[in-house]
Amino acid sequence: SFKDRGSSLEITKALEFGKRKVALASTGNMGASVAAYAAYGGLECTVFVPDIVGKEKLSQMKAYGAKTVMVEGDYALAMKRAEEFVVSDPDSFLTGDYPWRSEGTKTVGFEIADQLYWRVPDHVVVPVGNGTLIWSIFEAFKELSLVGITESIPKIIGVQVENCDPVVHACENDLGEIIPVKDPRTVATAIACGDPIDGLAALKA
Ligand SMILES: *Cc1c(COP(=O)(O)O)cnc(C)c1O
Repeated sequence: SFKDRGSSLEITKALEFGKRKVALASTGNMGASVAAYAAYGGLECTVFVPDIVGKEKLSQMKAYGAKTVMVEGDYALAMKRAEEFVVSDPDSFLTGDYPWRSEGTKTVGFEIADQLYWRVPDHVVVPVGNGTLIWSIFEAFKELSLVGITESIPKIIGVQVENCDPVVHACENDLGEIIPVKDPRTVATAIACGDPIDGLAALKA
């Protein structure tokens, strides 16, 4: 459900810019979320999915009327296809792990603090795929502290799977850069992002 926070904002922006279509790459959950909000906003939705995506996730997207395009490759290739689609069609808007989504996703951090009466927890443990969630949560806590609503920033702990851990690898080895994992294979398809868009931001968080 956290994906909806960003999707809702992205669809609002697509409508504001007068677009009639949205496109994105997704390993499943974001596709389902954007498909739902696109349907609500009356926008056509095309989702490019890597070949590891399960049937149950595809049917969620289709149930909301989205078109799904299976690419022969991983998430990075699906992302390339989505970007090409949007570049070739000025009527379309690219959704995904881009800055508007991050603004919506920040509400995860705001609400954690809100529900704790504006105190922050010591730790927040976050799964990391593209790194947008962990970065947005970190930013939210930073902003709350910057304006003086909260007094500290929690320690953020990012979690990845063994077969796809470019951010964890960089963090543990003090690399300062992300070395992409090629064609990752894991049952945790939602976080199988071998070359995470917000990898460096996640590392900072
Ligand atoms: C999208 C997703 C993540 C990872 O979020 P990122 O912003 O890509 O790091 C983690 N878990 C689930 C279930 C997801 O759908």
